[in-house]
Amino acid sequence: MKYSGPTDLYIAGEWTQSNSGETIQTEDPATEEKYATVQKAGASDIDAAVKAASAAVSRGSEWRKMSPDKRREKIHAMADAIEEMKDEISMVESHDNGKTPFEAGLEVDMVIDTFRYYAGWTDKVEGSEVPVSDSRINYTTREPVGVTAHISPWNFPFQLAGRSIAPALATGNSVVLKPSSMTPLSALYYAKAAEEVGLPSGVINVVPGSGSEAGGALASHEDVDHVTFTGSTEVGKTIQQDAAEAVAGVTLELGGKGPAIVLPDADLDAASRGVQYGIFMNAGQMCWANSRLLVHEDVYDEMVEKISSIAEGIPLGGGIDDDGQMGPVVSEDQQQEILDYIETGKEEGATVVAGGGTPEEKDSGHFVEPTVFADVTNDMTIAREEIFGPVLSIIEVGDDAEALNVANDSPFGLTACVWTNDLSRAHTFADQLDYGMVMVNETPNTWPQTPFGGTKQSGHGRAQGEMAINEYTEVKNVHIKL
Ligand code: NAD
Repeated sequence: MKYSGPTDLYIAGEWTQSNSGETIQTEDPATEEKYATVQKAGASDIDAAVKAASAAVSRGSEWRKMSPDKRREKIHAMADAIEEMKDEISMVESHDNGKTPFEAGLEVDMVIDTFRYYAGWTDKVEGSEVPVSDSRINYTTREPVGVTAHISPWNFPFQLAGRSIAPALATGNSVVLKPSSMTPLSALYYAKAAEEVGLPSGVINVVPGSGSEAGGALASHEDVDHVTFTGSTEVGKTIQQDAAEAVAGVTLELGGKGPAIVLPDADLDAASRGVQYGIFMNAGQMCWANSRLLVHEDVYDEMVEKISSIAEGIPLGGGIDDDGQMGPVVSEDQQQEILDYIETGKEEGATVVAGGGTPEEKDSGHFVEPTVFADVTNDMTIAREEIFGPVLSIIEVGDDAEALNVANDSPFGLTACVWTNDLSRAHTFADQLDYGMVMVNETPNTWPQTPFGGTKQSGHGRAQGEMAINEYTEVKNVHIKL
């Protein structure tokens, strides 16, 4: 199906062509056919977007003066507008990223919930009174930080942009959103929704462009007050340095190499289904994937058997005309990188027990077979590095202490899953795991109200929940001598 959605940049409430005249050509990863051509922002477009966002949030502006209840109405209206466009956005996301329509629909649903959740926050961001010495009143207020930049990745293009722009808007900030140039389309629907609900000009600006030029110009812009970056650890480090130019605040949501720990008392069928979702959903392109499966020796053989037979049975397919359960990966480069990791795993001595290459039945599309490695040790490349594809590494562990050591022996600290029916063990693992999110008897899961983020090289700051409100507000202390 042909793309008929927005293709221009959205700056200061206007759809506009890029100053350079350059465009981005997108490809459908399932068919390798051209899908859409959109305007590509360069540094001068970023500058225009930041200026528009700065004006929109200046004192005296319509957005800055808007009452909390009116702002709540606007954010609810954004949720409604997105809901109206759900089918279209899901289809576009599926063609742009390769994920199945079901997966794309989940993304849109999460965004709708997130906007509704944060709409409720507009009148709940409170200051406090601070007791000081006699004849004085001291209190705090919370103000928007100002211009917020959002640089988002290609794996959940719509949802990961929405999860940070919703709290930024709820707290009265303006937004410049730069989606990945690999998947620029769904982000433009935020501009469409903003236009439809009549957000004041400049409150939302959407500027697809390359990472190095547009992303760099945005992260280092002197008028940006906060940068939210979701992407790789490598680029996250650059963003933190760039944002230092303007002493801007930074929220970093980076990579992961999450463990799923299966203890001998676990429900192995439930654990296998959970691990299936945690590594093969979205073709494994998930920061919080449980890409390392740590299995107690008593149930190791059984788990290897269960998870490899699940992997062998997953039907592949992408795009909207297919009933595949796992789509292609996003690009040829990404496919090649994953296949290289699979070769490295074989060379380093791990055993392929499912998949291990590209599917013979597909003559186009960037597909990779759901792949399972057994006999992995935690020092192998496939256990240490984020593969960002449908590749599971199974490691045998002898007892709980070893499981904990192996789980924590990683440069990342995003999400860990534990499968056990022993309450005491569950709490011990939750306490001892060096991860920002721990799931017990659950595949990686999240809600708009729960904090999302990691430790170590998985980033800092938190998305979602009340903690995101803190990322986008500044405290002001007022002192009055009576
Ligand atoms: P990426 O780091 O390559 O790109 C992310 C974004 O940064 C894109 O918009 C890109 O254009 C931009 N960018 C690239 N170089 C830049 C630069 N020098 N300056 C400014 N911007 C730049 O990541 P990706 O490949 O799009 O996404 C995959 C990565 O994202 C994985 O590592 C994954 O774990 C991580 N991720 C993390 C989370 C989380 O919440 N922790 C969620 C999803 C993805």
